[in-house]
Amino acid sequence: MFRIGHGYDAHRLEPGDGVVLGGVRIACPYRVVAHSDGDAMIHALCDALLGALALPDIGKLFPDSDARYKGIDSRRLLAEVMARVRQAGFRVANADLTLIAQAPRVAPHVAAMRAALAADLGVDEGAVGVKATTPEGMDAIGRKEGLAAHAVVLLQQA
Ligand code: MG
Repeated sequence: MFRIGHGYDAHRLEPGDGVVLGGVRIACPYRVVAHSDGDAMIHALCDALLGALALPDIGKLFPDSDARYKGIDSRRLLAEVMARVRQAGFRVANADLTLIAQAPRVAPHVAAMRAALAADLGVDEGAVGVKATTPEGMDAIGRKEGLAAHAVVLLQQA
């Protein structure tokens, strides 16, 4: 009846003019180094969905050697992953995401992220948790060299 999945992703940061996280563009003095738009939160979410169904991860579904995925909006990847979830006969019960980043500050964007992700997952916003924490200056993320995200999802048979 139920399947649970976990996903994790991390990307390096470099000087730039903004990042995309949780489907939301955030202006800041950094950019994410990535083949796609570098949305680590959505990448973690995709891997959680795929993991719940024991399917290959997004690195295998959307290889970064494939030019079709260069600079791609990660919400398009999430849409493809959700198509597989539905094909498998499941729907999302809830999702919970945690961003670990010293920069940028995302608190003002959490509501927009929850709305974007809920729309993409086909659930109410009340079924999507988005949290952000900093490592309080510790480690590479604390030095703003990168950021990381975890996601957990529960699927139920549709
Ligand atoms: Mg990624």
